[in-house]
Amino acid sequence: MPEVKMSVKLISKPENILKTVYTACRTCYSALLPQEIFEAADDEEKMLSLISRVISSGHYSTIEHIQLSFAISNVSRACTHQLVRHRHMSFSQKSQRYVKEKGDFDYIIPTEIASNPALKEKFEKHMHHTALIYEDLINNGIKAEDARAVLPNAASSSLVASLNLRELIHLANLRLCTRAQLEIRTLIKKMCDEVIKEEPWLKEHLVPKCERLGYCDEDKSCGRMPQK
Ligand SMILES: Cc1cc2nc3c(=O)[nH]c(=O)nc-3n(C[C@H](O)[C@H](O)[C@H](O)COP(=O)(O)OP(=O)(O)OC[C@H]3O[C@@H](n4cnc5c(N)ncnc54)[C@H](O)[C@@H]3O)c2cc1C
Repeated sequence: MPEVKMSVKLISKPENILKTVYTACRTCYSALLPQEIFEAADDEEKMLSLISRVISSGHYSTIEHIQLSFAISNVSRACTHQLVRHRHMSFSQKSQRYVKEKGDFDYIIPTEIASNPALKEKFEKHMHHTALIYEDLINNGIKAEDARAVLPNAASSSLVASLNLRELIHLANLRLCTRAQLEIRTLIKKMCDEVIKEEPWLKEHLVPKCERLGYCDEDKSCGRMPQK
């Protein structure tokens, strides 16, 4: 059964993330040269305190110096379509033109459907039927770039996605909100967890927007925070 499980790995990050962000912040307010600030930076508490103040006052250019790359696999096309709406990210995604599906293609079953056996069975039958039509199109000489038109939003995809820390915080603020769809929320949570594993100090910044604002600005609130 070609249902697959999401996988997210942080594959590239700069060294000295904390010291780099601190140096960027401190440079704005110091007579010292950036190189001198970087070399002297050794007090983690002092660095974190300045960074926290600078980020909460909205001085976001200081966190744009940190570039991160993720290897992401087994996410639906519905999910990647939402992800690629973020314009300060870079993407390299498995092509449905160059990579032909063979037999039953991999797909993602949304959790609510997967947890209902009767609906899950209907869903899987539909995927199988779709795979047969796709195969028939390919066998009749239709190029993959056109045959893919029958593939569903559920079709599994993989990509490398890169972004800077400012965009990751923005992504977390928007997509960790319970108003975001569960699959993309899960994806962004996994991306944030990968970063927090390496840089625990970022935990307080990689949060839904209500935690940053102290209130919920959505029309329909989950009730976790008071509404504005
Ligand atoms: C819960 C939820 C529901 C959604 N529903 C829908 C929907 O129904 N239909 C739909 O089409 N989209 C929907 N979206 C997508 C949403 O409208 C945005 O396109 C997406 O979240 C990217 O957000 P962004 O533009 O803030 O972020 P990014 O593209 O990541 O940009 C980051 C920030 O950079 C700045 N920026 C980027 N580009 C520009 C620009 N051209 N001009 C000025 N400033 C810019 C803005 O400050 C922006 O917030 C939804 C998103 C969420 C989280």
